[in-house]
Amino acid sequence: MTDHVDVLIVGAGLSGIGAAHHLQEAFPGKTYTILEARDAIGGTWDLFRYPGVRSDSDMYTLGYRFRPWTEAKAIADGPSILSYVQATAAEAGITRHIRFGHRVVRAAWSGQDARWTVEATGPDGQTVTLTCGFLLLCSGYYRYDQGYQADLPGIGNFGGQVVHPQFWPPDLDYAGKRVVVIGSGATAVTLVPALAQTAAHVTMLQRSPTYILTMPSEDGIATRLRKLLGPRRGYTATRWKNVVMTTLIYRLSRRKPDMIRGWIRSMAVRQLPAGYDVDTHFKPAYNPWDQRLCLVPDGDLFAAISEGRASVATDRIATFTADGLRLESGAELPADIVVTATGLQLLALGGIELTVDGEPVRLPERMAYKGMMLSGVPNFAFTIGYTNASWTLKADLVSEFVCRLLKHMDKGGYDTCVPVNDDPTVTEQPLLDFQAGYVLRVIDQFPRAGSRAPWRLAQNYARDVVTLRFGKIDDGSMRFSARITGSTRRGAGRERDPVI
Ligand SMILES: Cc1cc2nc3c(=O)[nH]c(=O)nc-3n(C[C@H](O)[C@H](O)[C@H](O)COP(=O)(O)OP(=O)(O)OC[C@H]3O[C@@H](n4cnc5c(N)ncnc54)[C@H](O)[C@@H]3O)c2cc1C
Repeated sequence: MTDHVDVLIVGAGLSGIGAAHHLQEAFPGKTYTILEARDAIGGTWDLFRYPGVRSDSDMYTLGYRFRPWTEAKAIADGPSILSYVQATAAEAGITRHIRFGHRVVRAAWSGQDARWTVEATGPDGQTVTLTCGFLLLCSGYYRYDQGYQADLPGIGNFGGQVVHPQFWPPDLDYAGKRVVVIGSGATAVTLVPALAQTAAHVTMLQRSPTYILTMPSEDGIATRLRKLLGPRRGYTATRWKNVVMTTLIYRLSRRKPDMIRGWIRSMAVRQLPAGYDVDTHFKPAYNPWDQRLCLVPDGDLFAAISEGRASVATDRIATFTADGLRLESGAELPADIVVTATGLQLLALGGIELTVDGEPVRLPERMAYKGMMLSGVPNFAFTIGYTNASWTLKADLVSEFVCRLLKHMDKGGYDTCVPVNDDPTVTEQPLLDFQAGYVLRVIDQFPRAGSRAPWRLAQNYARDVVTLRFGKIDDGSMRFSARITGSTRRGAGRERDPVI
């Protein structure tokens, strides 16, 4: 017999565990299962094991709304974040709902039965089938089985070791070695100071610079607010303080890019040695927040450079040689180990094949409703966090909205909800309005956003709180129907409403 649950969650990362927590708090009586492809909780925070791995946004906003982050560090290391997710799952009894080693490959919606049939590949390669009333994807946004490999000319010549941060060998000994880290994103700027603690020297090789902003690793105001208001209220106050701060920096970056550019530059100048060529290595050609801004706790990257343990080369690889790299400028970079911090390979909705009443769902032909559901796809939601703020801010709101939706359906006796875009004046926009290479490479495989609410993606937490936490559920774009009674959103007709 096929198992049936009310809600099926895909993924036991930060989002999936958070979603399960919201769901069981709101509906103690509903059944749910989490299908997780890997053998562990934590997703990103379990997968990435490179030295120094840490958050690059503050934990007061990367933490769940319902569980205060109580550690001193606002920028936390990977293992602490993993423990936080694991403890959330264990304390709320979520772990026993997870089926590990189950990779979901397809999901088929039947309007007749008002349910999804979900197929997963189980631990022994067997096909496991479940059915559910609502399907909630918390499958992240990138491929776990491979990272992005940039073109590395002449890599076959290199006699040293090449490592991708997504697959860091636990026994890699870099003490006393010359290391070149290729890349200038969050991973590269994290790795460089961490490796530089024991390596002979670390060079960050970048084609072009990134905006790098120093942030204190501990938040003194948060500590004072916690003492003053207690852990829970102090956490909420700090969360909002940080939301306001990051929104302000983001807004100013868009409206007054020169001002923010100057501010970031002056901070870098203050932390680097006198006469350092800041403009070659730390002055990007694009505006702040055209791509994600990189945070460095307590300026650790700048300290490693100032102390001569690390350096930056802004150049292109001409070819790898037996003992390092030759750059287009003619410079040689000797290396024992090369780390290709060249990024992630984005993957939409966990690579799961969706069909609705036998019709394949082609993602680029669908519009995202409130950045979390798909036009014409019933009883389905997905979690993709913000690009300009912490992921969990949006993940919490998605879970809260799904709970509100389910409550509305229970109250109205509906078994189907589906967002429908029948407004011809809504025009298409990219789902991620972000110029980073790893986004541009794949954005045409993702669903689209629309030019106005509820299809427009605001990337604005405060606005999303208003619409997702408090906004109308029955907003005209969301259509409800019931299979048995034939009642519809407006209570008319005995026929089932056409859902698409
Ligand atoms: C190194 C690194 C640092 C980051 N730092 C930050 C940060 O500081 N702040 C921030 O906001 N964001 C950060 N991010 C983004 C980060 O991914 C999110 O913050 C968050 O961890 C995402 O959680 P998630 O549960 O949605 O996805 P993931 O952590 O990716 O977890 C998804 C889970 O779903 C499972 N899964 C996927 N597909 C399937 C399938 N088909 N079937 C079954 N299971 C499946 C995966 O195995 C995984 O366990 C970072 C990302 C990386 C890679």
